[in-house]
Amino acid sequence: MILAVSKLKNPSSPADGYRGRFAPSPTGPLHAGSLVAALGSWLDARANEGQWLLRIEDIDTPRCIPGADLQIQAQLHACGLFWDEEPSYQSRGQEHYQAAFGRLNALACLYACTCSRQTISNTLAAMGIHTPRNQEMIYPGTCRPSQLMPYAKDLLADSKKAWRIALPENCQIQFEDLSLGIQHQDLSREVGDFVLRRNDGLFTYQLAVVVDDAEQGITHIVRGQDLLNNTARQIFLQNQLGYSTPSYHHLPLVLDANGEKLSKQTLASSINTESDQSALAELRKAAIHLGLRDLPDGDTTIAEWLLAATKAWKINTFKCD
Ligand code: GLU
Ligand code: ZN
Repeated sequence: MILAVSKLKNPSSPADGYRGRFAPSPTGPLHAGSLVAALGSWLDARANEGQWLLRIEDIDTPRCIPGADLQIQAQLHACGLFWDEEPSYQSRGQEHYQAAFGRLNALACLYACTCSRQTISNTLAAMGIHTPRNQEMIYPGTCRPSQLMPYAKDLLADSKKAWRIALPENCQIQFEDLSLGIQHQDLSREVGDFVLRRNDGLFTYQLAVVVDDAEQGITHIVRGQDLLNNTARQIFLQNQLGYSTPSYHHLPLVLDANGEKLSKQTLASSINTESDQSALAELRKAAIHLGLRDLPDGDTTIAEWLLAATKAWKINTFKCD
């Protein structure tokens, strides 16, 4: 299966019904990297006169920190990044994920997997494949049955097993990223059959994000480049579930002094939004990172600054059209 999704570059007039989103995981407060994603997606939505939704991606409950959702909301507020509609929470969307999972099961493309990380790693090692640290292992298909079929409800509900989606042969996905250009991933060789429900019964980010983006009618996804590697999987799932594919725009990553991606796991420090001045200083850093130039640098309100940034974003994004 070779799937090529091509999207037109942003049209010069505002897109009809633009719906964007910012989808932080509440594993800690916003850091410089997540502010770049928040600001970039907000500016793109505002420049397109679109809606900007806030989705709290708390699907991986064990990793979530109580109260981080409200802290993130307060930080966004302090930065003048107001969202449209009520924030949504993935932890409240179980029945939607379950329904999508059931539809995939009906297509006979799911199977249960009992491999531990160690088993997968050993199998790969025996095949001469060594996965660098920090990289996901390619699933070698150990548990994939020769004959795929839909499973009965009670079998599917078995929460002691992980459930993977079986990729069609030679599954290659191509899409156009609005800033990085044509992207291509060979899912069969680079990822393998991936998990949709974990052995602790939780649906994975890959499934939840695709269901949420479709159900919320998201047309434009603007997010950090750390997520680029997930996009092909998400386009594949959209295709299997009959959803349309939004346009994608991956923003440059903020790296720490060691050249590593800033993340809550590496304890990246929270942005400082204690005063308007400190929030504005954080926004200015994020804007520089996004390549926005000539923004008001003197005394200005956050609202005025955001307006200027929206104009600058428009010029930046649409200048090639
Ligand atoms: N929740 C994901 C994160 O915080 C972002 C998901 C997305 O934008 O698709 O890394
Ligand atoms: Zn397995």
